[in-house]
Amino acid sequence: MNEISADVVIVGGGPGGYSAAIACARHGLSTILIESAELGGTCLNVGCIPSKALIHASDRFNDVAGPDLTELGISSARPTIDLARTVAWKDGLVQKLRSGVSSLIANAEVEHVRGWGTIVDGKTVLVGDVVVHAQHLVLAAGSRATELRDLPFGGSVISSTEALMLDNVPESLVVVGAGYIGLELGTAFRKLGADVTVVEMANRILPAFDAQLTLPVVHRLTHLGIDVRTGSRVVAPGPSGRGVTVEDRDGETSIVDGEKTLVAVGRVPATSGWNLESLDLTRDGSFVRVDSRCRTSMTGVYAIGDLTGEPMLAHRAMAQAEVVAEVIAGGDARFDHRAVPSVCFTDPEVFSVGLSPDDAAALGIDSVIGVAPLRSNGRALTLGRPDGLVRVVADPGRGVVLGIQAVGAGVAELSSAAALAIEMGATLEDLTFTIQAHPTLGEAFHDAATTAAARIVGTRASAVPAAR
Ligand code: NAD
Repeated sequence: MNEISADVVIVGGGPGGYSAAIACARHGLSTILIESAELGGTCLNVGCIPSKALIHASDRFNDVAGPDLTELGISSARPTIDLARTVAWKDGLVQKLRSGVSSLIANAEVEHVRGWGTIVDGKTVLVGDVVVHAQHLVLAAGSRATELRDLPFGGSVISSTEALMLDNVPESLVVVGAGYIGLELGTAFRKLGADVTVVEMANRILPAFDAQLTLPVVHRLTHLGIDVRTGSRVVAPGPSGRGVTVEDRDGETSIVDGEKTLVAVGRVPATSGWNLESLDLTRDGSFVRVDSRCRTSMTGVYAIGDLTGEPMLAHRAMAQAEVVAEVIAGGDARFDHRAVPSVCFTDPEVFSVGLSPDDAAALGIDSVIGVAPLRSNGRALTLGRPDGLVRVVADPGRGVVLGIQAVGAGVAELSSAAALAIEMGATLEDLTFTIQAHPTLGEAFHDAATTAAARIVGTRASAVPAAR
């Protein structure tokens, strides 16, 4: 047995784990990072980054292959797609970012131990025949795709990982789950030429967002020719293993055929397979409970990222990584962010930062709402995509902005300004009097804030914006 030790050992090299390792090293702590696969975790290797690359390629292909450019007076010969080459391009991007992470880890003098970590106790992890000891243990093992009991992964039933590695566009694709992954990838494969049917158990798509935000996405899915079946549950594979058998809300069953079936019905924290259960940790359902300092119920044991609950997003894990490193170094950091942005890269994109009108109502908080439709926004019109809106939710007393949501082509990039506004405690007046460049989508912040302010008696900003 080989024995090594450090101040901190981190299990899991995803965005949470590698960011925590670099941050710990920055605080002068000797740090060991245990990861069996490539550094970067799900997000970099088989999630956020490769899916956004595929979505980009599918958008470009659809621009030239689809009918939408004809209106602009543009026509082109029928294009073709070599998906194996697209995937190779995407793999190149992933590789570039992965080597960036490896360099950061090496430059920070973090020791990367390759292999599967198994918990021995709250200060010890076993990796093969290496025993790793540390004063502080950070759990950052992430999450894995949920498998349907009636439709296990294998053969034509794939998860997003396999969907991002296909070397041919399937003729037909059944997508189970109209959440983030199902709609992002389902739309991409439709744009690449597959016949796509989406089967969703809930009564509407993207149940995490409200209907005002998802309506433009519903219209676009219809426009693209994607068959969306809500209120439908998968009960079995289709005959001879192809496609799925679906039961609708009236109990009627039908077959949805497909060359491949992508199952995207959520993710679960990776709490099994590495002896985590041997630690006496308090749980929140299947998640590991942590306090605002990312401390678990065991002294010296911390957890960050998808293991610790919703929202299971890379940027939340990275923000927790900064907190945990500072706490281990003796600092006073807390994860007390006002808002964690969530962005869905559908067509059109959707984002939500802070409280939606429904969230505010559920919390018993009074709110005033302003909506700016993008059809009144010059930039959205010049981009040929006026479908969408920006919505501001504010407290009717002082006009403090509680939440900002948007749906529209390209709005994902607006989420940073929205997050900044909320984190800095902006008021409607701040949004109204911030000069936004013209013509940009950002002008919709002003317009939505002005509309909300007009609903509060006695504020300075009372004019309802005209189209510009
Ligand atoms: P999700 O929770 O977003 O959506 C799952 C969907 O599947 C839900 O709409 C649910 O009602 C439906 N469903 C569940 N069981 C079903 C069944 N038996 N039949 C039909 N429908 C069923 O989950 P996801 O899309 O798998 O994504 C997992 C997680 O990954 C997300 O929660 C998110 O945190 C993360 N993610 C984020 C992004 C992003 O930030 N852009 C993108 C992809 C994934």
